[in-house]
Amino acid sequence: MEKKGIEVLKDPRQNKSTAFTVEEKERLELRGLLPYFVSSQEIQKQRVIENIRRKESNIEKYIFLSALQDRNERLFYRTVMDFLPELLPIIYTPTVGEACQKFSHIYRADKGFYITPEDKGSIAEVLANWPDKDVRIIVVTDGSRILGLGDLGCNGIGIPIGKLSLYVAGGGIDPEHCMPIMLDVGTDNEALLDDLLYVGYPHKRPPQEEYDEIIDEFIYAVQKQFPKALIQFEDFITPNAYRILEKYQDKVLCFNDDIQGTAAVALAGIYSSMKITGGQFKNQTIMFLGAGSAATGIGDLIVHALMAEGHTEEEALRQLWFVDINGLLVNENPGIMPHNERYVQDHPILPFIEAIHSIKPNILIGVSGAGGTFTKEVIEAMCEVNERPVIFALSNPTSKAECTASEAYTWSSGKAVFASGSPFKPVTLDDKVFVPGQGNNAYIFPGIGLAAMAVEAKYLPDSVFLVAAASLAREVNPSDLESGNVYPKMSNLRTISFEIAIDVANHLFDLGLTRIEKPLNVRTLIKSKMYDPTY
Ligand code: NAD
Repeated sequence: MEKKGIEVLKDPRQNKSTAFTVEEKERLELRGLLPYFVSSQEIQKQRVIENIRRKESNIEKYIFLSALQDRNERLFYRTVMDFLPELLPIIYTPTVGEACQKFSHIYRADKGFYITPEDKGSIAEVLANWPDKDVRIIVVTDGSRILGLGDLGCNGIGIPIGKLSLYVAGGGIDPEHCMPIMLDVGTDNEALLDDLLYVGYPHKRPPQEEYDEIIDEFIYAVQKQFPKALIQFEDFITPNAYRILEKYQDKVLCFNDDIQGTAAVALAGIYSSMKITGGQFKNQTIMFLGAGSAATGIGDLIVHALMAEGHTEEEALRQLWFVDINGLLVNENPGIMPHNERYVQDHPILPFIEAIHSIKPNILIGVSGAGGTFTKEVIEAMCEVNERPVIFALSNPTSKAECTASEAYTWSSGKAVFASGSPFKPVTLDDKVFVPGQGNNAYIFPGIGLAAMAVEAKYLPDSVFLVAAASLAREVNPSDLESGNVYPKMSNLRTISFEIAIDVANHLFDLGLTRIEKPLNVRTLIKSKMYDPTY
């Protein structure tokens, strides 16, 4: 039954606030509940952005936008879509990190979905309480490693909420298909356990066996309640992230954004950097600082990409070098983790700078979470062994970046092809303006989610991320490259996601991994699935 009167205004999906027409006010029994003047959505959007810009802190902007999402969902998405480069750092990193840290203290509206160990045995029934029945994208975290901020327990729910806002704004997924989930199994963060206002399950995290049982029940409960849903794992600690991905990747529709999404965005940056350096991708020697989940996730996809260019797995593996906290990843390194094993090289152990001199990498990728580790000496060493070194400082937030954009360009006298994980402003050097690219995962996951939803994918093999990386690299235009930017403009995200979705959908059809027949026109299929918040 159609809602009437105040119920219309309380429903964020139906509410248009001051944009209801005279006829709608009459029909929906809204006369008297709204002021006289009928605004267009355009005017409302201007009012919203004016309000946001007046707020002094980013967290206030976040709270304002979050409240708008709860009040008038279409206006929220219209505004986010039209001001994406300005609002992305508010609804996602870095502000979302601060919002998570303060989540229990700024808690207002009930958002997201929470599963705790007390739901064991009945997770499927609990999932049925979610009001939308055709869930297609789930972003789930257990809060154990939120961005670079560590264990934030239940407060990590801001991450799934933020990522899903990007799925809608950047990928055109209808919000009614989206479900943010917190697997609140507890937290080992003592400060949270001692916080009177903490809203999560106030216990320590369970031992691995019990944890795995909860994950397993959750995965199969999703298959029961929402059989077409894609599950995106987000911000799990590295060993759990790998174990879960390996266990379910080719059984259910899922992926891990920290591992696979990061890999695709980094590979796209490498592909486009070849257009600047003139190098050939298959001949590149690549060194990573850090050998955690982001590093080996990128490594695994590069191996895949090199094999697609004709290398054997062994040849591909030998082109990748990792330096972790104890130095070069070689047999004598005492810190080798299971996910590192395939990358262990036969070479004397060396500290970072000496490893650069000895191995002579063409590409250096920082994923260490250790700020300032790409020193002047490091950048100069990369310049000694390359005409145009490729240097990506991907660690977040900004304070953790291995070097800043300005340092990379200045210390390399403008030779470095630089990209970062956190945004940096353009840098002017000898009258030339360099625009550093930001390797943001938001370039990749919305397009993949859109494709998975449109074709009703069975599961996502790694090759999907190769296809997405190549697709993203194609979206970088010559003027971006001219300024040194290896990524396309974020303001084009919807078009970028659309193009990625078409390529990924075609790939899934080719592999027979869809639950629908291939239509005559895949572009039209994808377009028809895209949500438009305009009213
Ligand atoms: P992780 O904790 O799994 O791995 C970090 C690794 O770096 C660990 O193996 C650690 O031992 C090593 N390390 C720490 N200090 C070091 C040092 N001084 N020298 C050498 N190695 C050192 O974390 P992760 O998930 O792999 O993420 C790493 C970083 O990458 C984070 O800062 C994260 O924000 C960033 N990241 C960026 C993107 C992106 O830009 N799109 C995506 C994912 C992760």
